[in-house]
Amino acid sequence: GHGTLSVAAILAETARRHPDRVAFHIGDAALTYGPLWDRTRAYAGALRDRGVGPGDRIAMLVPNVPDFARVYYAVLSLGAVVVPVHLLFKAQEIEYVLRDSGATLLVAAAPMLSEALPAAGAAGVPAVTVLVPDTHVAAVPAPRLEDEADAAEPIRTYASVNPLAPATVLYTSGTTGRPKGAVASHLALVEQVHVTLLDTTDLNADDVIFGGLPFFHTFGQSAVLNTAFRRGAAIVLLPRFDADEALALLVKHRATVFTAVPTMFLGMVQAVARTPDRPPLKYAVSGGAALPVALLEAFAREFGADVHEGYGLTETAPTVSFNYVGEPIRPGTVGRPLWGVDVEVADSDIEGRIELLGPGELGEIVVRGHNLFKGYLGNPEATAEAVVDGWFRTGDLGTVDAEGIVTVVDRKKDMIVRNGYNVYPSEVEDAMVRHPAVAQAAVFGVADEAHGQEVHAAVVLMPGRTATAQEIVDFTRERIAAYKYPRVVHLVGTLPLGGSGKVLKRELVEQYSAPVGEAVAR
Ligand code: ATP
Repeated sequence: GHGTLSVAAILAETARRHPDRVAFHIGDAALTYGPLWDRTRAYAGALRDRGVGPGDRIAMLVPNVPDFARVYYAVLSLGAVVVPVHLLFKAQEIEYVLRDSGATLLVAAAPMLSEALPAAGAAGVPAVTVLVPDTHVAAVPAPRLEDEADAAEPIRTYASVNPLAPATVLYTSGTTGRPKGAVASHLALVEQVHVTLLDTTDLNADDVIFGGLPFFHTFGQSAVLNTAFRRGAAIVLLPRFDADEALALLVKHRATVFTAVPTMFLGMVQAVARTPDRPPLKYAVSGGAALPVALLEAFAREFGADVHEGYGLTETAPTVSFNYVGEPIRPGTVGRPLWGVDVEVADSDIEGRIELLGPGELGEIVVRGHNLFKGYLGNPEATAEAVVDGWFRTGDLGTVDAEGIVTVVDRKKDMIVRNGYNVYPSEVEDAMVRHPAVAQAAVFGVADEAHGQEVHAAVVLMPGRTATAQEIVDFTRERIAAYKYPRVVHLVGTLPLGGSGKVLKRELVEQYSAPVGEAVAR
């Protein structure tokens, strides 16, 4: 025999202890933990009646509405494995995930059915639907899980599972390549929450946390959904991020914690200039991409709350390191490792084995600990490439100093080599957003005959501000070494963003690899 541990206990135990506490604020409505768990048990009953059992992979395509939690914990309660699908995926991409994961059922919210049903049909996987609050669909072309739950006997409680059994398969969002399914165990997910609550944050049951990070992604799922639920705190739901709406909801529900990606921080700093209202934030958490120091400072000033930046990946459930709440913040760094997680830097040019470097040396960040994934589903080659000698190679370049403080320099794949010199885009971006008219900058390399690669930047201006591409080039040239500053600046209305709010550099590279147009300075 073995001990058991289930991610489903996160909701079940909180519902038992605090049935009347608010789990979700949805606009003006509130949903408490007791009824949420009761309905989750009914959903689990319906899924069980459909034959779902331990180890089965169940895909879900649901936005940040209460049904995300019901479906997620219902699947886990049966010992089955949740495969949350990226909400922006089109039919072909959904079909890929269904096939790759070997899913036996797809649960899709009604607004997603136009992409979900063709995908499920093509993959030969049955689909059921859940509605979202604002959908008024009289005849939905799929069986409704709600109806099946009404007719089913609810499960009594969650199933016993081996702590190391798979709980979720999360597909890397494909920012840099074909999606791979990272398998996380129950242990990794529960431990992540416990270490976060014990050490890195001081979230308690009275806190109200922003729920605008998508739950299908590791960051929103672990740092918001599972962490808040473990504590019995309330989540302010926002199915689609809009900064003004987010700010209004945070003010209305007196939110105390803002957890988000940098593009959301920027949106909030701009939104707060349009209203005198401020939510009573205790602190904020940034992750998922590099947070420019200027933005960290602007947010802290406008909201009167410190911003704690962390670093993580889908493969590490996700947090690797963090600027701990209650300790001095080190802007521009991602803080120190989580308890039980080793972070080192290895020679990034050596394949097949790990050669660790010393304090302060630049190399590839490697990680081992309780948070590591079990591997990429059905892809032992990719797993063997990623996990070497027990260390997970993150694909990120960075340093760990003598005190153990981690700094992420950039993704290995995003590094630009110009005339043989390495240029790290995030450093250039950090300098560019210090220009008062620059809201966002994305720096990327474009193949170039003369220099190997040329440094390009796509820039979004602050609303109501003007600057020419040449002014921005000149501003940046004064602040960083001559080989680094962007030779070509493209002024754009928006940057291409992935579903988790990250800039898709691959799309910029493709777009600007063609001959350049007028909005260009040299
Ligand atoms: P891919 O699909 O190519 O694996 P992704 O962005 O979809 O990329 P995620 O697991 O969502 O994969 O994100 C992990 C990556 O996000 C890290 O490898 C790192 O490059 C970046 N990242 C996360 N936090 C930070 C941070 N604080 N500073 C800089 N980069 C960060």
